[in-house]
Amino acid sequence: SIRTRFAPSPTGYLHVGGARTALFSWLYARKHGGRFILRIEDTDLERSSQESVNAILEGMTWLGLEYDEGPFYQTQRFDRYKEVIEQLLAQGDAYYCYCSREELDSLREQQMANKEKPRYNGKCRHGVSGEGERVVRFKNPEHGQVIIDDLVKGRIIVANQELDDLIIARTDGTPTYNLTVVVDDMDMGVTHVIRGDDHVNNTPRQINILNALGAQLPVYAHVPMILGADGARLSKRHGAVSVMQYRNDGFLPEALLNYLVRLGWSHGDQELFSLDEMIQLFELEKVNVSASTFNTEKLLWLNHQYLMNSDPAHVGHHLSWHLGELGIDPATGPVVAEVVKIQRERCKTLVEMAAQSVYFYQDFQGYDEAAVKKNFKAGSAEVLQHLWQQFEALTDWEAEVLHQVVLDSAEQLQLGLGKIAQPLRVAISGGGVSPAIDKTLALLGRDKTLSRINRAIA
Ligand code: GLU
Repeated sequence: SIRTRFAPSPTGYLHVGGARTALFSWLYARKHGGRFILRIEDTDLERSSQESVNAILEGMTWLGLEYDEGPFYQTQRFDRYKEVIEQLLAQGDAYYCYCSREELDSLREQQMANKEKPRYNGKCRHGVSGEGERVVRFKNPEHGQVIIDDLVKGRIIVANQELDDLIIARTDGTPTYNLTVVVDDMDMGVTHVIRGDDHVNNTPRQINILNALGAQLPVYAHVPMILGADGARLSKRHGAVSVMQYRNDGFLPEALLNYLVRLGWSHGDQELFSLDEMIQLFELEKVNVSASTFNTEKLLWLNHQYLMNSDPAHVGHHLSWHLGELGIDPATGPVVAEVVKIQRERCKTLVEMAAQSVYFYQDFQGYDEAAVKKNFKAGSAEVLQHLWQQFEALTDWEAEVLHQVVLDSAEQLQLGLGKIAQPLRVAISGGGVSPAIDKTLALLGRDKTLSRINRAIA
């Protein structure tokens, strides 16, 4: 059965490029009833950190990309890597190399001067005994070629002559990246290696090691990079790249997933995909071969679609988190899902929605000056006074009833609806914009409405 993995190096946060390959691996496993493995590639002790591991796990959890096995940590598997290195040495597929750094540097300079591709010349390949520091190199086949039928890129052929003898253990005995990946993919029974195409040059080397170990070869799918609007590889200077930054900026995880699955993949002209549809329809074979450009406008559009069409309780769950970030306890006001229902049409992000919903929960600091100037005219205080009396007398606090009060007041005071609703809006929200006034009042509740009108006319 199908087994895929996501194998991040914990040297930073989970970025959108990593999240996209993780999503593809996850979808592939889900689609085929397989298993999705999380493996933390933390052998680079200098650059790896627990903080980054936590950030990656947090990102995976927020996105909902749950893994069936793991997280496995490569640092806990050093004994196993050592065993495999010994095995390769014993069967003659690896050898000790005593070449010094100086020797290798001068070799490289020579090759560069001759306009040759720098590569190890195989000096120690045929057995030398030496003294002092030594690395272990894999004995790459000298002849033949490696053929990769990549699910995204198609057939890739690399001549073995192009590949030199890769270091698989450093002088201190620790394994190198290509060795650990190979051992893990083999031991974990990975059937499909789905990863960024920055690794495509490693693949023929990894295949040769797998062959030497008699392992079953996985299928490879190398996913193209994500670019910023300027065509350069997506990075911090293009804005948010960390998955958790998208949470902080007010995106729903499903909107980000939908955005990422469409980045370089399509199914007709369909834009919106539920998770189930993604699982059903996604095909690696249809991922674009060329890099895709990240488009924040489109992500915002998708986010708005998801805010509009998702279960209000679900959106409310995420909105509550943002309210919490603003220091608001959602228990101090209306049910958050109800706020979602009346706010979502006007918001592209949850950050906007939270900012525009503060007054439901907390008294605002001061009034928006421009809104006061525009909406508070001579006579506004009398209007508010009148409204206060009507509201105070109500027994039912419901949108329909409140609507009628506003209509009746307009008639009694001989004023247009705007002259009633706008001062009221400023009084209760501090600003000149809110959802329909009757619905806003209904959610705000009687106590807050009355005390804020009082505050405005005081
Ligand atoms: N640890 C590697 C990275 O984060 C991925 C290795 C792989 O997927 O084979 O780039």
